[in-house]
Amino acid sequence: MRPITRRGLQWGSLYVLMALLPLGIALLSPPQETRGLLGATGVMFGLLALGVFGMQVVISGRHRWFAESVGFDNILQFHRQAGLLALWLVLLHPLLIFAADPSYLEFLDPRDDTLRAFALVGLLGASVVLIVSSLWRVQLGLSYEWWRLLHGGLALFVVLGGLGHALMASHYTAGWLTAGLLIAALLVPACLLVDSRLLRPWRLRKRPWQVIDNQPALGDAATLTLEAVGEHRLDFNAGQFFWITLGDSPFSLQQHPFSVVSSACRPERIAFTAKNLGDFTATLPEMTLGTRAFIEGPYGAFIPDVRSASGRC
Ligand SMILES: Cc1cc2nc3c(=O)[nH]c(=O)nc-3n(C[C@H](O)[C@H](O)[C@H](O)COP(=O)(O)OP(=O)(O)OC[C@H]3O[C@@H](n4cnc5c(N)ncnc54)[C@H](O)[C@@H]3O)c2cc1C
Repeated sequence: MRPITRRGLQWGSLYVLMALLPLGIALLSPPQETRGLLGATGVMFGLLALGVFGMQVVISGRHRWFAESVGFDNILQFHRQAGLLALWLVLLHPLLIFAADPSYLEFLDPRDDTLRAFALVGLLGASVVLIVSSLWRVQLGLSYEWWRLLHGGLALFVVLGGLGHALMASHYTAGWLTAGLLIAALLVPACLLVDSRLLRPWRLRKRPWQVIDNQPALGDAATLTLEAVGEHRLDFNAGQFFWITLGDSPFSLQQHPFSVVSSACRPERIAFTAKNLGDFTATLPEMTLGTRAFIEGPYGAFIPDVRSASGRC
């Protein structure tokens, strides 16, 4: 794991502030009714869960401005731990409220309000599925691609549904100013999600690559060389990796990370060696020349110190 830099610590502080933002905004206005310490703690946990889930969307979006300073491994491990924390907060949120005042159990009764009951059970269920499917993806037989789609969809549902729930419950969020600030705070992750899942592949569409060489490599592997179709190029450093999609659409679920094995001095050509480990890598030896490719990156901060490196381009 790469040590966290000073910049990383600054990002960490910003993360804490952003995760606490929904709670902070809610505390600006007095609650609609007094609920006692237990009930109020339950409500706080819900708002904190909303902030943590919102930030989960931000940190997992492969935004280079963030990933470079913190390091991919650190982000992945933190994302996992923060997901578990968010799940505990989501589960404790209703439990504490019901323990403080059992009359709130009627919120789960579809005879009382069908839409509200299904929405609340749906949000709780989605949070559990989100975490369980991530922890036990392989045991559940979920392919990486379908898991990624499910994960993104559920995350969006939990964040937007959680926001809707906080606004409709209006315990701390009554008043247009508080509601507006809360919506604005959660629009940040929503916009970054749209950027990473829709706009980024859309931008990649205009910068296609193609397979120009495909060679077998030692250890049941294949080395593919991609060349830019057009004048574009991708500057990178030795030791970095790219997310690669092969085929006509950059929106494909089949997007995989591979380290570059070609020289950083030729940024218009990128080669990677992939070991046959599963369904995608098994297809690589048969990949025909001329196949379209899309490359996202570069990522990774495990690079040589360019000031001391001798053979610069
Ligand atoms: C930063 C990074 C750099 C990598 N560089 C190389 C490389 O240079 N050469 C190489 O052979 N492999 C590399 N890998 C691993 C490579 O991405 C996976 O082997 C490949 O995605 C497997 O896909 P599959 O569909 O063939 O196999 P699957 O059966 O889907 O998976 C096989 C294994 O790879 C993991 N995996 C699957 N898809 C992904 C994904 N999109 N991201 C991360 N892990 C995944 C699975 O959890 C499983 O453990 C790298 C992985 C990372 C995270």
